[in-house]
Amino acid sequence: MERLLPYLFHLLGIHSASSLVTDAHTSSNQAASSASNDAKSVEPFDLSRWDVTEYQVTAFDLSSPEISFPLLAGHLYYTCLANVPSLVRIWWTECKIRQLNLAVDSLTEKYFSPLLINHELISLTKAQQAPAEGGQAAAAAALSGISDDLNQLQIKASKATSEITASFKIEDATMEIAIRLPANFPLRQVEVEGLQRVGVEDSRWRAWLLAVAGVIAAQNGSLIDALSLFRRNVGLHFEGVEDCTICYSIVSLQDRSLPNKTCKTCKNRFHGPCLYKWFKTSSSSSCPLCRTLW
Ligand SMILES: [Zn+2]
Ligand SMILES: [Zn+2]
Repeated sequence: MERLLPYLFHLLGIHSASSLVTDAHTSSNQAASSASNDAKSVEPFDLSRWDVTEYQVTAFDLSSPEISFPLLAGHLYYTCLANVPSLVRIWWTECKIRQLNLAVDSLTEKYFSPLLINHELISLTKAQQAPAEGGQAAAAAALSGISDDLNQLQIKASKATSEITASFKIEDATMEIAIRLPANFPLRQVEVEGLQRVGVEDSRWRAWLLAVAGVIAAQNGSLIDALSLFRRNVGLHFEGVEDCTICYSIVSLQDRSLPNKTCKTCKNRFHGPCLYKWFKTSSSSSCPLCRTLW
């Protein structure tokens, strides 16, 4: 990522990225050199007239490298954002060149975020519909039971504010959360806010909200994955399933398992992955709570 992304931004005419691209690349590549020459005076390549979501390899035209290379770069960047947003976010957050950081921010917000936000909202709506009508996304969702999860949620998505509210009714109580997508989504993390809760302790509720944000931030997860996790946590909690004493979530963020490892002494329950991580970081194999050897 740290080599690919600067190269793509360099091709897109972001001048501050050029210093990160090795000379070998630049000299062997016409478009790259023309892009960096122009970049001092002009804005990054204008992608507004092009569709970055698709790319026809056969349309690649070497006789007009000043268009072909930026378009290819634009499509590749879109592909990265759509498939491995977490990796792009890490690169962007850790990018020490302030100018480049800002340029990527505005490029993303201008050409890419609106497409990706729209895509998230549409696939969420589709996944909620019956599998037969919703196409691929819905079919996949149905297969994994996510569609059932979503159908038990009341979901409202606002395109204008890029905000999704989801509420879940349990008997007479309603639990509600809001997920806000930032303007430069997915570079910045989503905000998750609890709007309404009944019968859940503060620490547990906060762990659920963190889990929702974590699925999107750290696991390249979609809104669908995140909301489904929320629904399962709430549902299982009211069915009386105990949460993991390490992460306070019922459904594991790592592998979606339930806390099925029980300490023989203190009877506390843990997720396999949480326990494994604990053993590794503490370099011992004792229970996190009572310290009995496992
Ligand atoms: Zn856990
Ligand atoms: Zn124990």
